[in-house]
Amino acid sequence: MNEQVALFYQTIAKQCSNAHSLRTICELICRNLIQFFSVNHLQLIIKYNNEWKLLLDLNSKGIQYHFPPIATTQKNEHYYKNIHYYANKTTASIDILPNYRYVLIPLKHRSVIIGHLTIAVPLTSHLVPKHLAIVASLLATEIKTSLEKQTTKHHSLSRMNTEKELLSTKEQQQALLNQLQSMHDISFQLWRCSSMRDMLFIAIDEGKKQLHIDRMAIFLFDEQQNMHGTFGTDIDGETVDEFYFSSPIPNQWYASKTLKDKEYIAFQENTPLFHDLKQIGFGWSAYIALWDEDTPIGWIACDNLLTGQPLRNYHHQLLKQYGFIVSQHILRLQAADNLIQLNHDLEQRVQSRTEALNKANEQLQKLSRIDSLTNIANRRVFDETVVTEWRRASRLALPISLLILDIDNFKTYNDKLGHAAGDQCLKTIATSLSKVERRAGTLFARYGGEEFVLLLPGQDQQAAIENAKRLIDAIHQLALPFPSLTSNDKTPAVVTISIGVSTIIPSKKTTYCDFFQQVDTALYQAKADGKNCYRVL
Ligand code: GH3
Ligand code: MG
Ligand code: MG
Repeated sequence: MNEQVALFYQTIAKQCSNAHSLRTICELICRNLIQFFSVNHLQLIIKYNNEWKLLLDLNSKGIQYHFPPIATTQKNEHYYKNIHYYANKTTASIDILPNYRYVLIPLKHRSVIIGHLTIAVPLTSHLVPKHLAIVASLLATEIKTSLEKQTTKHHSLSRMNTEKELLSTKEQQQALLNQLQSMHDISFQLWRCSSMRDMLFIAIDEGKKQLHIDRMAIFLFDEQQNMHGTFGTDIDGETVDEFYFSSPIPNQWYASKTLKDKEYIAFQENTPLFHDLKQIGFGWSAYIALWDEDTPIGWIACDNLLTGQPLRNYHHQLLKQYGFIVSQHILRLQAADNLIQLNHDLEQRVQSRTEALNKANEQLQKLSRIDSLTNIANRRVFDETVVTEWRRASRLALPISLLILDIDNFKTYNDKLGHAAGDQCLKTIATSLSKVERRAGTLFARYGGEEFVLLLPGQDQQAAIENAKRLIDAIHQLALPFPSLTSNDKTPAVVTISIGVSTIIPSKKTTYCDFFQQVDTALYQAKADGKNCYRVL
């Protein structure tokens, strides 16, 4: 037996000198145990991460080596004892069972049990634990070294991983910071835009640069479900005016996703890319919906036509955020535009109202200067004009003449024919007599009741007398029937007038009141002299 053991060790020593791994050593030992001692079953159990686990199992199926070691199932026919049975064995022993002898050897490293070797040999075998003492210590050393190597390797691997993770976290953090900064920069630029057009341009031109997007375009919707281009990107990456573009909202994947499902962003890979409705390539395409609360107001379309770069994880969140920012600015400027329009409308309304008011005022002014019955200038116009003309005549030492006309016996006319006929008579006379003198500067006005005045600035007495004659003639021409005064009056009666006439060159000694009085006195004389005549004073 001893010779056999010696040969066993010699063989192992020789074979193991070239072996470097625990697995090889274990397998070599197993094979030699089979060969030298007809070993039928063998289990190598080790303490791994503080648990008893199976490292090697030799049975009728052959040798199975497990690393990392596996948990054992107690139901396995080859396990002769519960695995925890070994944990309590501190010394080698032999258990004899009906078919086999089980040699149990604890594997110790510096007095600490790190594993157990259980070997089943035929009952006839003389193998005892002491024969395997060296194998046990060899295995213990190899297992310990291997486990330590493993742990070290594991540690250094996990340290490397941790470092890698830390680095990538740092990079991610930095990228996130950069993106936040970019977002802030664009936001700031968008805030400075006071017109919708400028804002949309910046949103595209800067958006592409800061968010690293190849192409971007903004489309806005109207209430009739049409979409309109604003600014976009051509096939060379240049920001271009696309305000000319208009089309019904297309029935495409992105439309149903964003508008019907109310998603902020729709994204598709390996999809045809378009410019001006023509397909120009393949790549990813993203549509970010712009919202006014629950109402979609437009899209930002993006793609990777130029560089083919993949859509990165952060793009999703970033573009969503960007869509939100751009929406806010569109709404802000729409509100501002509405306000400007409202102001403009208000200004226009004020202007047209002012015009209407001016017209009404003019009308009122006119009305207040025209005698409503006879439609000629009224007393007010005369009073104003005469003051002005008096001053002018006085300043320039020019003559000024005034005629006061009074319808004769008008009371009787009214009494006999009625007030309405009296009114009609007044109208006819006013119309007719106002045409007698049309020279510029002259004024024919109704002074009150059945009295009229004719102001003749710059006209001397001779001219005034001429006018008086023409007026008397004119009334004769009219020949308005006058109801007979007495029953035996044979002469066909007509309406007549009497006129007082006076001319003056105003001076410091004369006043307008005195002058008017003088004309009135002349009229009184005409009346006294039988009416239907003029008198000059
Ligand atoms: P004389 O020849 O002295 O002027 O006599 P007269 O009757 O014309 O003068 P008087 O002052 O006595 O009467 C003036 C009349 O003129 C009285 C009034 O009924 C009439 N009259 C004044 N204004 C109007 C008017 O607007 N319409 C009518 N129908 N009559 C008027
Ligand atoms: Mg009178
Ligand atoms: Mg009269």
